[in-house]
Amino acid sequence: MSRVFNFSAGPAILPEEVLQQAREELGDWQGSGMSVMEMSHRGKEFMAIAAQAEADLRELMAIPSNYKVLFLQGGASTQFSMVPINLLNGKKSADYVLTGSWGKKAISEAKRYCEVNTVASSLEQKFSTVPDFNSWKLNKDAAYLHYTPNETIEGVEFDFVPQTGDVPLVVDMSSNILSRPIDVSKFGVIYAGAQKNIGPAGLTIAIVRDDLIGNAMPNMPVMMDYKIHAENESMYNTPPTYSWYIAGLVFQWLKRNGGLSAMAAVNDRKAARLYAAIDGSDFYANPVEKRYRSCMNVPFTLADAELDATFLSEAKAAGLVTLKGHRSVGGMRASIYNAMPESGVDALVGFMADFEKRHG
Ligand code: PMP
Repeated sequence: MSRVFNFSAGPAILPEEVLQQAREELGDWQGSGMSVMEMSHRGKEFMAIAAQAEADLRELMAIPSNYKVLFLQGGASTQFSMVPINLLNGKKSADYVLTGSWGKKAISEAKRYCEVNTVASSLEQKFSTVPDFNSWKLNKDAAYLHYTPNETIEGVEFDFVPQTGDVPLVVDMSSNILSRPIDVSKFGVIYAGAQKNIGPAGLTIAIVRDDLIGNAMPNMPVMMDYKIHAENESMYNTPPTYSWYIAGLVFQWLKRNGGLSAMAAVNDRKAARLYAAIDGSDFYANPVEKRYRSCMNVPFTLADAELDATFLSEAKAAGLVTLKGHRSVGGMRASIYNAMPESGVDALVGFMADFEKRHG
């Protein structure tokens, strides 16, 4: 297998070991004579794969027993509507924190269902920070508070969990789930599209506290109701079986590699090395307030944007791909999820120094 270092924001790099195992099992999963892709989701083989994946995720994240783990479809974007549909429960408003492009999308979707109070925003700072928690204007009557702990496009990551008393916290962890240990019990709902730190696209995971299930708005499509999925163990309809299986292999890879504490240590090292390279030069820059710099998505600009295309093509020739920043912000972005090895970050840092020497 000839592999590049893929810095894509998602779908993103997967651990090579996982791909190898998937390849070995592709046509015949453990003597079943079938590919996982060909299995009935209700057959005993797939039921075992599904149950093991859930058990491993519960172990990795230490998910308490009063939470359901749902394996859904529709991406994180569908959660932007499932959250208000399931959590409003007769209330008229919800609180949202705006720290980047994905939070903005979550807000505009929620506005279809309720009054949205944007209780804190870093829009004026061009999403380069997280507003000081003391300045948030929280509402006691809010059905929930939603925020995006890691904004994938701007590269802004929370380093704290807000305290909202009885108002449940809802988080879009699409781009930083599994990157370090968290205390699940602090949250009402945690959701994430799989295609960054979990596995292939097509699968969306929602971890939902029991008491927040069963209150969906009437007359909504049945697929939007957490209760339907919870009661049917995420098999009300055909789930994304192959993505679920690969996610399970990723969970086993995480367990073999020391779990989330070990992952956090590696992630901190990788991010520190890359930000040091950016800060240590006048040629590269990152606009995010240091405390809130993301460990997963590292956007950076070159001193001369005219060199962007050359940077990208030379990087590609060196085996470092998908470094182009999001079209809304320009520049570069290196996504360094769990599966990006330290050697990939070292190669990028080396390339950046060399590029600066030649073009800076
Ligand atoms: N939220 C965040 C933080 C994301 O990074 C993304 C995808 N880049 C989304 C939501 C949208 O996810 P999906 O494409 O799975 O709907």
